[in-house]
Amino acid sequence: MSTPSISNVAISDTLRKVFGFREFRPNQESVVRAILDRRDVFAVMPTGGGKSLCYQLPAVLLPGTCMVVSPLIALMKDQVDGARANGIRAAFLNSSQLPDERDQVVRDLHAGQLNLLYVAPERFSLDHFRQLLTRVQLSMVVIDEAHCISEWGHDFRPDYLSLSELVTLFPHLPIAAFTATATHHVQQDILDKLALRTPLVVRASFDRPNLMYDVRFKDNVDAQLVALLKTHQGDVAIGKASIGKVGIGKAGIIYRTSRKNVNDTAAMLQAKGFRALPYHAGLTDAERQRNQDAFIRDEADVMVATIAFGMGIDKSNIRFVIHADIPKSIENYYQETGRAGRDGEPAHCTLLFAQGDIHKVRFFIDSMLDETERAKALGALTRVISFASTSVCRRRTLLDYFGEHYPHDNCNACDICLGTRDVVDCTREAQMLLSAIVRTEERFGATHIVDVVMGSANKRILDFGHNKLKTYGVGKDRGKKFWRQLVDELLAHGVIAKAEGLYPTLLLLPKAVRILKGEERLDIVRVHESPAKAVKAKSAAPEAEGNPAGNHELFELLRSLRKQIADEQGIPPYVVFSDRTLRDMAAHSPRTAEALLSISGVGEVKLERYGQQFLRVIDRFSDDA
Ligand code: ADP
Ligand code: ZN
Repeated sequence: MSTPSISNVAISDTLRKVFGFREFRPNQESVVRAILDRRDVFAVMPTGGGKSLCYQLPAVLLPGTCMVVSPLIALMKDQVDGARANGIRAAFLNSSQLPDERDQVVRDLHAGQLNLLYVAPERFSLDHFRQLLTRVQLSMVVIDEAHCISEWGHDFRPDYLSLSELVTLFPHLPIAAFTATATHHVQQDILDKLALRTPLVVRASFDRPNLMYDVRFKDNVDAQLVALLKTHQGDVAIGKASIGKVGIGKAGIIYRTSRKNVNDTAAMLQAKGFRALPYHAGLTDAERQRNQDAFIRDEADVMVATIAFGMGIDKSNIRFVIHADIPKSIENYYQETGRAGRDGEPAHCTLLFAQGDIHKVRFFIDSMLDETERAKALGALTRVISFASTSVCRRRTLLDYFGEHYPHDNCNACDICLGTRDVVDCTREAQMLLSAIVRTEERFGATHIVDVVMGSANKRILDFGHNKLKTYGVGKDRGKKFWRQLVDELLAHGVIAKAEGLYPTLLLLPKAVRILKGEERLDIVRVHESPAKAVKAKSAAPEAEGNPAGNHELFELLRSLRKQIADEQGIPPYVVFSDRTLRDMAAHSPRTAEALLSISGVGEVKLERYGQQFLRVIDRFSDDA
């Protein structure tokens, strides 16, 4: 099957007119070209990398319908809303629809009226659906979230296995698979399972330059969360000012491990006036849907959630993600933090890390029956601990995990590189603690060891005669908090371990001996006590910055208008225009339709639908100024 080759001019015209973009993001162009040349594609691109455009653009240009297999109903709906907002003829077929709606979609499909059709993988197993496909003209097949086909991936979906048949079912159609998460291992597995035919394989950099990474010692989680939200949202977001329809604060997600923690944290934040809502598998479907909708529509600012939340979320204006408990793996962490800043605007990722959390996870892992699973979980946990407790650039560590070398010495957007922490040599103090453990014959827990070092004269110390030890009181000029944290550090660095069982006594590991002998040092990382320095991540779109400070007010006005339009049309605000597009408008104040069209994200259809309204707000604002 050959179609006349599509020119580069047609491609760049479509990019500009339909999507409103001047330039491709990295890798988009080569993927688009390959699909238009009818070649299979396998593309790993980070969240926010612009995967949708890679197939939506060819779908506009090629005759026939592009069928997109997508795992979640919410995701499909969002994609369809987004495509339609740009004037692309898109629809989905799934179980959430009434028979009438489904019939209409099938009619449109038959009539060749659809550029894009989104379906769930389950639909493939249905005979009548496969028959239907033989009677319509398809342009290509897209597999979104392709890692779902791999059992090694973090959200394996058995239904995805049927996609292995695609190549046989559609020998003449290009098949393009996309995912945002794939270690090389997962990548190979996907390629094997799908049996793509000499595909173009694209592996974009996993770096998310607009995300700022920050790891902090967790001690008082509630207070820390409130403080973080205040820095992220500004004081206007709390209290009475926030009770309106338009979100004043910036949107973010707080991840917690248990349902109880989710409920408690959400309630705590609500009581303090934050527009926070809970999300976990224990809520009813209706509650979950309601909370998710409120978040998507910018009516709630903070989603407090278990990891059940996020996969079906395309919301592009999430400005922060906080992990209030330790994530399960680096892959999970990357995926979860990756939900921030899809629009390329700066966003913050904070991990609150406590030694106590490790024990909880360890306890859970130890109770796992399957040995391989247990080993896998333990390996994953160890990597997270090392990510959080070393003094290496966070970005470098994350990229390392995906087998990618970060080429710069300083990323300028993580706590380590920005120097909000100091590396302190604590070898001498570590020796004091370790020698107290040795002299008490590894028979005591952290509390007692700290008491020895601090020279506490309590009954237990005296009963055991530990006040006569050589190390008794050697560390009395330091506070209890310091010593407790040092014990945690020694545990995290694999210098000591806690005994299993009833009495968690502290035991020495081989590293302890080397430290005691002075053969190895112990460097630990301390966060500055000063209030969080305003650290700024780089925007992934430097040209969009303009003069943002001076136009904050205009940005807020445009945001209200966006919310109003979104409500009228029943679509999420970010589908109308992204934060980045609004910021661009606020920075350049376009006064004519032509000028508005030159703003990134404004294509012809959006100009026609919303142009006048936005121009009016800009006019009024500029005339008043
Ligand atoms: P992904 O699916 O890879 O996470 P999306 O397709 O949702 O990413 O795109 C993320 C954001 O980037 C969207 O707001 C989209 O409009 C925007 N975008 C995509 N391609 C471009 C481009 N070439 N120029 C500017 N913005 C783009
Ligand atoms: Zn860094």
